[in-house]
Amino acid sequence: MSLTLVQAWTAARKRLEAAGVDGPVIDARLLVEAAAGATRADIIADPHRALTDAQAARFDDYVARRARREPVSHILGRRGFWKIMLNVTPDVLTPRPDTETLVELALRFFPEGRAFSVLDLGVGSGAILLAILAERPAAKGLGIDVSESALAVARENAANLGLERRVALLRGDWTAGLGEASFDLVVSNPPYIRSAEIAGLEPEVRDHEPRLALDGGPDGLDAYRVLAPEMLRVLKPGGRFLVEIGFDQSAEVEALFRAAGALSVSTAKDLANRDRVVAGAKGE
Ligand code: GLN
Repeated sequence: MSLTLVQAWTAARKRLEAAGVDGPVIDARLLVEAAAGATRADIIADPHRALTDAQAARFDDYVARRARREPVSHILGRRGFWKIMLNVTPDVLTPRPDTETLVELALRFFPEGRAFSVLDLGVGSGAILLAILAERPAAKGLGIDVSESALAVARENAANLGLERRVALLRGDWTAGLGEASFDLVVSNPPYIRSAEIAGLEPEVRDHEPRLALDGGPDGLDAYRVLAPEMLRVLKPGGRFLVEIGFDQSAEVEALFRAAGALSVSTAKDLANRDRVVAGAKGE
């Protein structure tokens, strides 16, 4: 007897639940959809459609991997973020909904029609930079990352979104290679987890995501110590910066940016009402 879409969904949900996966219902649905080449609407409109043998085999493989706590983004090789779809590999941090707070603030500061330049330090998959450029046709961007394999993912994403002519992606150590270049907006989601806390993270993050994108040093603030003065240096007068932070890092990160000369420094909360983004400006 062959497995139907709805049976596959239920079986996957139970198996993922037993494996301790957070959010097993949604993950099960995403894996069924991908394995069966079905949409969410198909599962509802045609729940008794049978999976072919090849689809059932693929489905088993996906669910087994997820039960071993591999992230859905790595199994599917993609993840939706803001209004765009991004390719994702183990070489980049999987884009998180929390980070959409930063995109939202950027779009608020730089309304439609305004031509501006944006620099993303530690660009990873390109999530932040490409989400901004996709919404602001007059903007252009530069993404820097120390990881060549992350840049390869970002380049692919830029091309898939038709943004390659408005974005440059370069290897570099934060702003070291930028010379006198300056920008209207500088953004970053740097590594900010305290080194000692990494061992206690969920297996999806601890075992599958790049440590380089997570480990912020002993107190989690190493990257901001470097970024605060460097971001102020490469901002144009009157330019804005936005950095993602851990929920308990607002006071320390704000202080680092104030010490670097930033004005109007403030913290914005994410959808879960936790501190998530420090924003500020460079004086005119
Ligand atoms: N928000 C991520 C997490 O908790 C961390 C991202 C980062 O260090 N920039 O998994």
